[in-house]
Amino acid sequence: MKYWFVIGLIFLNLMLVKGLSASELFDDNLNQIEKLLQTDVTQAESMIDSMLSTLDQLTPQQAARFYTLTSIKHLYSAEHQLADKALDTALSFTPSEEVLTQIYLYKVTVNILLKDYEKAFSILQFNLSRIKEFEDTQLKVASYVRLLNILLDLTAYDEMLSTAKLVLNLNQGKDSKNECYAMLYHAVATLKLTQYSQANSLFKQSEVYCAENGQPLIEAMSIKGQGISYFELDKYAVAKPLLEDALERYEGFKFQIEINDVKAYLSKIYFYEGNFDKAQQYAEELNGLNEEKINIDVKKQANEVLAMLASKNGDFGKAYQHQVVAHALDLQALNEVNHKQNAYQMARFTSAEKERENQSLLQEHEIMMQQKDLILKEKSSSIMFSTLLFGVCVGLGLLLLTAWFQRNKFRQQAQRDGLTGIFNRKTGQDLAENELVNVLSQSSQYSVLILDLDHFKTINDRFGHATGDWTLKKVTRVVQDIIRPTDIFCRLGGEEFAVYFPHTDELTALKVAESIRHEIEQINTKYSGHNFSISVSGGVSSLDKDDLSVDPILKRADIALYKSKKTGRNKVLAYQPSFE
Ligand code: GH3
Ligand code: MG
Ligand code: MG
Repeated sequence: MKYWFVIGLIFLNLMLVKGLSASELFDDNLNQIEKLLQTDVTQAESMIDSMLSTLDQLTPQQAARFYTLTSIKHLYSAEHQLADKALDTALSFTPSEEVLTQIYLYKVTVNILLKDYEKAFSILQFNLSRIKEFEDTQLKVASYVRLLNILLDLTAYDEMLSTAKLVLNLNQGKDSKNECYAMLYHAVATLKLTQYSQANSLFKQSEVYCAENGQPLIEAMSIKGQGISYFELDKYAVAKPLLEDALERYEGFKFQIEINDVKAYLSKIYFYEGNFDKAQQYAEELNGLNEEKINIDVKKQANEVLAMLASKNGDFGKAYQHQVVAHALDLQALNEVNHKQNAYQMARFTSAEKERENQSLLQEHEIMMQQKDLILKEKSSSIMFSTLLFGVCVGLGLLLLTAWFQRNKFRQQAQRDGLTGIFNRKTGQDLAENELVNVLSQSSQYSVLILDLDHFKTINDRFGHATGDWTLKKVTRVVQDIIRPTDIFCRLGGEEFAVYFPHTDELTALKVAESIRHEIEQINTKYSGHNFSISVSGGVSSLDKDDLSVDPILKRADIALYKSKKTGRNKVLAYQPSFE
């Protein structure tokens, strides 16, 4: 700290020689701190500390900026309450509109971290309406970027994706920092929507862009994103150096939350590659973290690794204990998500109420203004009227926006299977029926494949439910990689899946089914922590001239599946009337 103070003094002297006034120098220092917070947090902290002694010489604007930057420093070290306090202090200095926007946006972030969604939501809304009145695209962009943060936290990934695209469209590369953030969020949303290959290339793009535009923190996050997407694709050897690189960068930033998260991934990778000492070291370190909510997920992962290690060493009692802890933490995380979603609902409800109140106030105002208009008959009052009308429109727009987010979220939850993320039976069938109508109107072809894992119960019985789940997810991914985007893939239930192939004849469907069967047989299960083989049986059937819905096709595919099971499993057969 002393060292930096001395450098600060030297800097001050140089500046005075150069003829900069003290006030210009403070502006300069604040700019430098802002930059350092992105590149070298330790140096930024030292500069903040050394500026503390000059506080009484700062202008109110500078003081507001100083406290805003101090709050960012606190955010990095997860001192949320201190960050909130610093922002309140910043507010007390009546900051400029630009700094005010920044303060509000950070307050949103702090409140999300403090899990006060209602407050976060209302500050964001307030800020959005302020910004909309400014009609400044760049401030709008910055605010949407914060909204992206909220959407990520609320697991509203579809909305996140569309908002990220909106930001990229509005910004057109003008503000490189927000462009870089939006690129990252775009990639994160894609990752969360389990499109791993696509997410991987988006992260590569954001890494390059953010590196070129001096955003090393986002560059590190992009590298981590690439590592995670490779991890999800089971490419552990490629994931490892990327995650190690990200870890080193995060350590430079002292970004503890990210450091822990990356270590959780690395611990699993080290286990899979047989580097048990290092796996154990990271897992134990993470397991020793305190009980804060932010640590639930990494602690869960650490306990999973510790269970695998204990089981490898033959200490099954210990393995069981860690499994139980992992399971309990998993439940806790689930409760947390539910709690968050409820809180979000409440926040949405309350803010909708407030909007309604605001609107009736606005309407009252509107009438008053109209009366005034009649009396004064002046042009200026009609301008005021259109401003009010604009305000009402913005309010309505926000209401619609929030309702839309919520509806999309529930629709997504209702349509997808919780474990694998693919369509559930009902949605799959609805989509398949729609496609069938198209096919029938064009006199085209249509085929259906039903898949059922062989002796799946044995996998559960021998290696536990978690390994069974791993298998289901892995199989899903293999199928997703083979079929076309226009094919409809759903989980019928348990370990049974269906693929609907519009505009496809039986022979082609059978070929695709055969390659799915083959690829599933090739799955390397060592990454689940166990060695076993996976196989699948399938039945294919195609549209018959009498078929008017997908039901009879599904039924015949099921009969063919039953035949495959009966005649030795690990095969796919096309339906023949003789099977019945
Ligand atoms: P077969 O080759 O005849 O299909 O035998 P099988 O063991 O695959 O079939 P069975 O219907 O006897 O067993 C299916 C098992 O799938 C029973 C059930 O506990 C398990 N299961 C169903 N859903 C899930 C799930 O979401 N996760 C896990 N891990 N297991 C599941
Ligand atoms: Mg089965
Ligand atoms: Mg079955």
